[in-house]
Amino acid sequence: MTTNHDLFTRGLKVMPGGVNSPVRAFRSVGGTPNFIAEGQGAFVTDIEGTVFLDYVQSYGASILGHAHPVVIAAIENAAKRGTTFGAPTAGEVNLAEALVDRIDGMEQVRLVSSGTEATMSAIRLARGATGRDKIVKFVGNYHGHSDALLASAGSGVIEGLDLGETATPDSAGVTAGAVADTIVVPYNVVPTLDESVAVVIVEPVAANMGLIAPRSGFLEGLRSECDRVGALLLFDEVICGFRLARGGASEFLSVHPDLWCFGKVIGGGLPVGAYGGSTELMAQISPLGPVYQAGTLSGNPLATAAGLAVLDLLTVDAYQQLERTAERLAKGLRRAFADAGVEARVPRVGPLVGLFFGPELPLDFEGARASVSLGRYPQFFHGMLDAGIALAPGPYEVMFPSLAHQDSDIDRTTDVAASVAAAMAAGAR
Ligand SMILES: *Cc1c(COP(=O)(O)O)cnc(C)c1O
Repeated sequence: MTTNHDLFTRGLKVMPGGVNSPVRAFRSVGGTPNFIAEGQGAFVTDIEGTVFLDYVQSYGASILGHAHPVVIAAIENAAKRGTTFGAPTAGEVNLAEALVDRIDGMEQVRLVSSGTEATMSAIRLARGATGRDKIVKFVGNYHGHSDALLASAGSGVIEGLDLGETATPDSAGVTAGAVADTIVVPYNVVPTLDESVAVVIVEPVAANMGLIAPRSGFLEGLRSECDRVGALLLFDEVICGFRLARGGASEFLSVHPDLWCFGKVIGGGLPVGAYGGSTELMAQISPLGPVYQAGTLSGNPLATAAGLAVLDLLTVDAYQQLERTAERLAKGLRRAFADAGVEARVPRVGPLVGLFFGPELPLDFEGARASVSLGRYPQFFHGMLDAGIALAPGPYEVMFPSLAHQDSDIDRTTDVAASVAAAMAAGAR
């Protein structure tokens, strides 16, 4: 039988770190990654045949659970008719209509193939439309891996860094020039802007430095500060979009940006991103306007079919169910840590659940880093994994309960968490 170790050894020879995205390599938790053979609903099975209850769910790309039959049928139907044409298709119009219909204030979208492309292109649009150069981002917010946004970014980017540093730029190969117009400020504090700022990009709920909710008044403050100086406000909803609510973060939090970016959920597990705004703003994009952006596989027939199938199933009831599931998980985890006497905070925002060890609930990246520096996450992660529960292999990620997670799955999770926490308290982990 091929083992995880065998595949990882082969992978390490032909791919840097054995993976195609760094956090998958388990470097911040230690050990060998599980190679997934298949997923069904809330579960994944690795190539050794071990089944895991999965809270990664492709970092939120999968909201219905894995291999949902309706989504698979949509992909099969689309695939039979050809996988890419380089010409417009009905699927693109259908998905664009579904997005525009759900997001109040967004009149047009451009489909791309990843969240990174969406934010990178939206920044270009904001600069083109305003004629200004500066962009403002928040420490610990992750917006994909384009050069200008690789400054004090969250998620896997942090793990590549010495934890003592929030260097700018975050990555070798990003020139000082590429981030010279990127201003980085702490999350949850409204910065004072001036008229050199084209756009403020923000995760309306931060989900790449653990889970950090916006303080009351933060997003409202950003909205009015942007208006004061004529800067655009961009919500990076690559995680929040169509997860917090049918209308995304702007519906959930009642603040409306000028530009939206989406990804993950809207591709139904295939590569899709989107950025959008008013008709007037989007008229700046080629072929109508001077801001160039294109893509051979943009609006791909399989991806648009999968995305549309998912959005169709995300009813108001579905969001209520997701939120109930997340609440059951958060409550159970809080109880598990409290009973064991392990200091931990378990924030929940809508259907997203976070986990911070330590006494404080972080409000920004400094707080998140202080929690991570306690070094408890790897112990918890491996305790859970040994019992068949897969959390993200990094302390800066969040948990993504899906619509396929049943109450019994959640209860098993919190029972296991209770015994792992007890072992941690006893020093056995
Ligand atoms: C995942 C993510 C991205 C990048 O999306 P990719 O599809 O991985 O390129 C951008 N912004 C946020 C908030 C994300 O969580």
